[in-house]
Amino acid sequence: MNNLKQHLSYLADDRLEGRRTGTNGEQLAMAYIQKVFEKNGLSARGKEGYFQPFEINEGRAVAAASLLMINGNLLQLENDFFPLACSPDVSDEHMVAPALSESGLPWFLDIEDMLANNTHPHFDLYQALKDKARDAAAKGATALYIYNSGSQADGLKYDGADRSPRSGIPIIYLKAAVVKKWITDPTHPIEIKLRLQQTNKIRKGHNVVGYIDNQAPTTVVLGAHFDHLGYGEDNNSRHTGDAAIHNGADDNASGTAALLELSRMLKKSGPRNHNYAFIAFSGEELGLYGSRYFTENPTIALSDVSYMINMDMVGRLNDSSKTITVGGFGTSPSWQQLLFAEKKMPFQIKIDSSGTGPSDHTSFYRKDIPVLFFFTGLHTDYHKPSDDFEKINYAGTTHIVNYIYRLIGRTSNNGKLAFQKTREQQTTTSARFTVSMGIMPDYTFSGAGLRVDGVSEGKPAQKAGIKAGDIVTMLGSYPVYSVESYMQALSKFKKEDATQVKLKRGETELMVEVSF
Ligand SMILES: [Zn+2]
Repeated sequence: MNNLKQHLSYLADDRLEGRRTGTNGEQLAMAYIQKVFEKNGLSARGKEGYFQPFEINEGRAVAAASLLMINGNLLQLENDFFPLACSPDVSDEHMVAPALSESGLPWFLDIEDMLANNTHPHFDLYQALKDKARDAAAKGATALYIYNSGSQADGLKYDGADRSPRSGIPIIYLKAAVVKKWITDPTHPIEIKLRLQQTNKIRKGHNVVGYIDNQAPTTVVLGAHFDHLGYGEDNNSRHTGDAAIHNGADDNASGTAALLELSRMLKKSGPRNHNYAFIAFSGEELGLYGSRYFTENPTIALSDVSYMINMDMVGRLNDSSKTITVGGFGTSPSWQQLLFAEKKMPFQIKIDSSGTGPSDHTSFYRKDIPVLFFFTGLHTDYHKPSDDFEKINYAGTTHIVNYIYRLIGRTSNNGKLAFQKTREQQTTTSARFTVSMGIMPDYTFSGAGLRVDGVSEGKPAQKAGIKAGDIVTMLGSYPVYSVESYMQALSKFKKEDATQVKLKRGETELMVEVSF
């Protein structure tokens, strides 16, 4: 219990500033985990020693070298103007009267009329602007400068997550104040200079991997994510006040502390019939990036893995209900016997059969590995700055650690556990959908389209023959560039509709028929 307390108090300290992936807080946590792995006698099993770096593509960003000048005056990105993210990179300079629409010059467009005339509920302003830009480009326009002189909000902004095809010419939004100041008389020429460059914003995360090599044919993987929300910069906090450190004591300093303690116990006196891999994942809070990267780029042979145990939020065992949720129960026929083998259980187990869920075991389940997911439950401090050290039930976490240790002991003669598929847990259910495809999207995919991570048994996608790894590029007449545009497209269908889905499977493109 003292070890757990020590690990937790360090990881959930303000000094680590919420352990956000890609920050100094992540670095401090990594260094601490490495130090404990070393002390416990684990060997390094990452790519750079214990560390396994990976990249998170956060989409496009306007490069610092970009600029817009009118009559020699530098305008400010965001305050004065912004490009639409579908714009290509350019650099040019023109004298132009905004009222003109001539070949070889930039064009100007007041979007007030487009907004006012369009009452269609599914009117897509963004797409309409791209169509305008395409038409203008065909007539020789070098850029399309847009502004809104009306009172109707247009909702346009720079969206770095946009993965739709580029518009042939840049589309630059000028804010009202800029138009008022510089375009007082549209027949009067202005000098306009544009340099636009967009880059991909890349964030680096690191898993920390330690290993106990018992020269055994099989390996047990234990995992817990150590990253958390930082100050809430990634919009995944439930906190509404000023920016504050999210210490994430339960989520998931608790699971990380349990992982570290289990590494000590298993090195010291664990059964030698398995090897043990201990993985502290990063990038979990952004969408299982670390575990997904690990299972795509494993530093151990995944084919030798007997099973994986994930601990995510194991610090709040309720002393009155004494109930813990164990997910992944359906992923192996062996779990029933192994989990309930003890006459006197230290807590009640509430089972959840699904191999998927909102944490890192999902990535291993996707590789046909039996998983278990230990979780003491949600609480009001979840994803808030108040998820703090002093609210942890240390005795409860100690029970869980000891129980997992005994459970691993019970598997020492089982070799590789048999795997079985389970139902998929619905991770996105929203009232705006009247139909469901049964597709689990890969949220980490950064190409154009929606990459299918898995399909639910018996749902429309599976019936249509859609498979994991397929990339959906069209749903009916709606192009799909990302998870968001897929969701938008899906919301246009209702029960009993049938439509065509365009897919990329490897290098091949195919069409399938889906009925909802
Ligand atoms: Zn978590």
